[in-house]
Amino acid sequence: MDFKNDHAFAQDLDKKDTLNHFRSRFHIPQHQQEPMLYFTGNSLGLQPKKTAEYVNQELNDWANLGVEGHFKPGTGWFGYHELLRDSSARLVGALPQEVVVMNHLTVNLHLLLVSFYRPDAKRFKIICEASAFPSDRYALQSQIKYHGFNPDEALIELHAKEGEETLRHEDIIAAINEHGDQLALVMLGGLNYYTGQVFDMKSITDGAHKVGAYAGFDLAHAAGNIKMQLHDWNVDFACWCSYKYLNAGPGGVSGVFIHQKHVENTSLPRFAGWWGNDPQLRFTMPHDFVPVKSADAWQLSNAPILNMAALRASMDLFDEAGMDSLTAKGFQLTSYLLYIVRDVMKQCGDDSLIKVLTPFEKQKQGCQLSLVVKNGRKIFDYLTSHGVVTDWREPDVIRVAPVPMYNSFEDIYKFGVILKDAIQSVK
Ligand SMILES: *Cc1c(COP(=O)(O)O)cnc(C)c1O
Repeated sequence: MDFKNDHAFAQDLDKKDTLNHFRSRFHIPQHQQEPMLYFTGNSLGLQPKKTAEYVNQELNDWANLGVEGHFKPGTGWFGYHELLRDSSARLVGALPQEVVVMNHLTVNLHLLLVSFYRPDAKRFKIICEASAFPSDRYALQSQIKYHGFNPDEALIELHAKEGEETLRHEDIIAAINEHGDQLALVMLGGLNYYTGQVFDMKSITDGAHKVGAYAGFDLAHAAGNIKMQLHDWNVDFACWCSYKYLNAGPGGVSGVFIHQKHVENTSLPRFAGWWGNDPQLRFTMPHDFVPVKSADAWQLSNAPILNMAALRASMDLFDEAGMDSLTAKGFQLTSYLLYIVRDVMKQCGDDSLIKVLTPFEKQKQGCQLSLVVKNGRKIFDYLTSHGVVTDWREPDVIRVAPVPMYNSFEDIYKFGVILKDAIQSVK
C-alpha cells in the first residue's frame, strides 16, 4: 500500500480497519487528558475493560460460595484451567490436550527442562541465542550446572555474524549440525525480544530432530503476536507468558505446550504434584502419581484463579478478533510505522538517524520494530515526557510495538509528529 504521512490519511485507515472497535474495549492510560501513545504491549499489554468483571465474578463466588466455589457448575475452580484450553490451543496451533495454563514463564521453563533436558556424558549441549532474554539464559545455565555440567562448554550461544544484528537461519542450522550428537536441546525464543526477529521454528525443529535433539521455544514475544502451528511443526515443547501481547496483567499466568507424542508418554520424567494427577482421582488423593495424558500432567498446584480470570477476559477478545485478522492488521500497522520513521528521517535530512534492527518480512513479521537511535536516550526521554510510551534497551535501542488489538494508525501518525519534534529538539 502507498502510505502518506498525513493525519487524515491515518484516520481514514482507522475507519477502514475492521478491528478498530476493539480499541474502545481497553483502558488506555492518559497523559494530560489525552490517551497515551502506548507502544509497549510487548512488555505489558493494556487492560481489557472486561477484566474487572471476570475477576470480580471469582471474588463474588469466593465471597458467596466459599469452598463450594470449586464445584460451581460452569466456572468451578476445580476445572477452571479447562476454560482456557481451547483458546490457548488456537493461539499456538496446538491440539487441546497439548496445552495447559499454569505458573509463570521461567518456572514453566524449568519444569519443561526437567523433562526435555536430560544430559549424559555424550549428549549434553544446549543451543540458545547469545541475545536470549536473561531469565532464559539463567534457567539454562542453572539446569546445566544442576546436572553437573559446565555452562561454558554445554551452553552454545549463537552470535550474529560480524557487522550483522540478527542470526541467519543457515547459521542456526549449521550450529545444530556442528554439535550434532553432543546436542541435547535447541532452545530459542520464537521471536527475539531484543531485535524482533522471528525464527523459522519449523525448520529449526526439523534440524534439531535430525541430529537427535529436542527443540523448545520461549514464546513470550510470539504468543498473541504471530501465527504458529506448534503441533504440525513437531515442536517438542514451548512456554509463554500472558502479560505481554496477551493482556492478562502484571504477573499473569503462563501457558505451556507439550507435543502430543510426549504427553502420551507417561513414563517421561517430570516433577509431579497433585494437580497433575488424573482429575478423576485428584480429590481421592491416591498414594501414587497417575499422570493424566495431557499437558495437564505437568501441573503441580491448584490454579491461580484470579490470574486466570484476567487471562480469560483477554482470550475472549483474541477469539473474537482471530489471529488471522490481528496479524494482517499488525503487518499494516508495522509497515506504516516503518514508513513514518523513514519519512521523519527524510524530513530531518539525515537517513542515518535511525537504523531498524528488525528484519522486516511479510510472512514472519511480528508487530515490533527495534530502532537503533542516534542520541537514543535523549530521544526516548523526550518521547516519554510527551506521552509516548516506548521501551528503552541499553545502549541505544528503542523498541516500538504497535499492537493490532488496540493501537490505531492515528497513534502512529502522532508518533511520527512527536518523533520529529524530538529529533529537532535534541540536535
Ligand atoms: C518477558 C520474558 C520473560 C519473563 O519471565 P517471567 O518468568 O514471566 O518473569 C522470560 N523470557 C522471555 C523471552 C521474555 O520475553
